[in-house]
Amino acid sequence: MSELRITAVRSFCTQPAGARLLIVKVITSEPGLHGLGCATFTQRYRAVEAALEHHIAPLVAGRDPRDSEELWNLMMLNGYWRNGPVLNNAISGVDMALWDIKGKLAGLPCFQLWGGRSRPAAAVYGHAGGATVEAVAEDARRLLAEGVRFVRCQMGGYPGLGGPEAQRPEGAAPGRYFSPRERLEAVPRLFEGLRAALGDEVELLHDIHERLAPIDAVWLAKALEPFRLFFLEDILAPEDIRWFERVRAVCATPLAMGELFNNPQEITPLIAERLIDFIRVHVSQIGGVTPALKLARLCEPFGVRTAWHGPGDTSPVGMAANVHLDVSVPNFGIQEWARRTPLEYDMFPGLPEVRNGYVYPNDMPGWGIEFDEALAARHPCRDGNPSWTEARTPDGALARP
Ligand code: MG
Repeated sequence: MSELRITAVRSFCTQPAGARLLIVKVITSEPGLHGLGCATFTQRYRAVEAALEHHIAPLVAGRDPRDSEELWNLMMLNGYWRNGPVLNNAISGVDMALWDIKGKLAGLPCFQLWGGRSRPAAAVYGHAGGATVEAVAEDARRLLAEGVRFVRCQMGGYPGLGGPEAQRPEGAAPGRYFSPRERLEAVPRLFEGLRAALGDEVELLHDIHERLAPIDAVWLAKALEPFRLFFLEDILAPEDIRWFERVRAVCATPLAMGELFNNPQEITPLIAERLIDFIRVHVSQIGGVTPALKLARLCEPFGVRTAWHGPGDTSPVGMAANVHLDVSVPNFGIQEWARRTPLEYDMFPGLPEVRNGYVYPNDMPGWGIEFDEALAARHPCRDGNPSWTEARTPDGALARP
């Protein structure tokens, strides 16, 4: 097969569960040979769709799909400005599809293209939540009973506890409110209660979602140290990452960071200076598997482990790619796993399955996942903007998510 060309790039918006998913299919000149990729930027998926149709698809049309490295650089550099979330996701859709094609051509699962398995399966963490410490503990017990040994625990959902309405000034906008002060009090209380209720063996995680003043983040990481978290996630906003040095200086709470990162310049100093323990980027958000593999290799000698972002707004295709990376790279840490719906399993045959706290890739070539386009067409995306990202502090001001 010396002549092989990309003949079309198609994108599909579908919403089989809560999140709007954007799936990319790269079609080649070889009959029946195509690849699937994830381009899901669930909050701005129409912008990604337009970037793919008008800019990325014409750029790669007629090119050899086996040249994934050259094509990734072409897609990233051709627009001159780069490393933004819309274009990174569009590039990821094609990049992942090219790796899928490469695996299918070789007759191998993608993880075999990168050195094979370092482990047979990837440990996952699930999400437990509730309004009280007791409710969170009860929800965590449900996961433990399924064999999951790592549990992310949140009280009060996002953005957290609302704070008293009486504190708001006249004219405060409606919406979701949270009190940083209450949160600082509540989170250590939550983990003290969870250790008492669940014991010391379970691995506990917590996500701050960037919503603290930097010095409060330093205080909280220190306050949580006695409860031996597996990791504390996104304790600082991307704008505040220089504060990680201060956090490191006062405690040994393991730190995970990265789901909002787009640009390698944001990530590299944290790794090289050993300021975080887990890199937690959203693989499509940084431009796909090509940069994710490089990032994992960069992290390895610095002792930083991978924890790819994996909630419901990572598509099943993106999750398959995560799992291939997880079983392959030696410095894998943990995989976030949101429960997928029966409809998602129907729409994406081959979607990896979790058994007894581990997720397993299959041995099919490429990502080992298919996509039922007809079924997806019956579940189109419903347009709209998210509301959970709009959180306000008690004085009515918007907080950064
Ligand atoms: Mg997070």
